[in-house]
Amino acid sequence: MYAVGEPCELCGCAEPPRTRFPSVGIVECGSCGLVYYPGGVDARATYTLDYFHGREYQDYPAEKPWIQRNFRARIRDLRALRPGGRLLEIGCAYGFFLELARRHWQVSGLDISRECVEHARGVLGLDVESADFLDLPDEPESRDVICLWDTIEHLARPVRVLEKAARWLRPGGVLALTTGDVESAVARWRGERWRLIHPPTHLFYFSRRTLGQALTGAGLRVDRVRYVGYTRSLKAMLYGMLVLRSPEREWAYRGLTLGGRLDLPVPLNLFDIMMATAVKPLHS
Ligand SMILES: [Zn+2]
Repeated sequence: MYAVGEPCELCGCAEPPRTRFPSVGIVECGSCGLVYYPGGVDARATYTLDYFHGREYQDYPAEKPWIQRNFRARIRDLRALRPGGRLLEIGCAYGFFLELARRHWQVSGLDISRECVEHARGVLGLDVESADFLDLPDEPESRDVICLWDTIEHLARPVRVLEKAARWLRPGGVLALTTGDVESAVARWRGERWRLIHPPTHLFYFSRRTLGQALTGAGLRVDRVRYVGYTRSLKAMLYGMLVLRSPEREWAYRGLTLGGRLDLPVPLNLFDIMMATAVKPLHS
């Protein structure tokens, strides 16, 4: 777990970071610009059932159709780069991505949450374990694709994880991830009210520059970094905007969703979520 006073995760700079968002305790490395929450988090205690049912998500499993719609688009992008072989997902939650991905790759996954892993294994029959990737014995050049969907911002050591993932890729293999862009126009305009600012579940806030530096530093060649849209359910979106931020506004949520009965798919692209793909060079 990260502790206050440690060197910067990305550049190793030992100078104290400067304050970026004071009211939420988020800082910025004065040397490389990496934005992070220096407090750390007990991941096993955080990612429990209530995280996926009310605390961070209204009801994650109920959103499966929308979540999988987004994953189908990611799979199309990945197949263009590496259409088969072995795929590992780090931070696989309930296994909704792997359930689709196993049609194309031999898949396995990891998640810190035991409840999620039980679902992914028991209900979907996936090869998934509850573990921290950094604790696993090294398996160099064993995977063709490694993905982290909306995961690196949650990790205590994201740069170390990217370095290890790069080692696990075969030459020509692909690492793919999504995460917020803290230097995007929306993030800059919203400041500490940007919807992705919530420590301690989100610990690291990358930009195109710091993410590129992390991927290149891990020995990968950045293929592409672009902004991607998401389809969300209207109910989940209103719940996030109204109830999660201020529970006393549940009346507004109930009114707008006709007591929870109204739901629609809402495609959204605020140009603040990056999808990055990076390739392990054939000759290093
Ligand atoms: Zn730094």
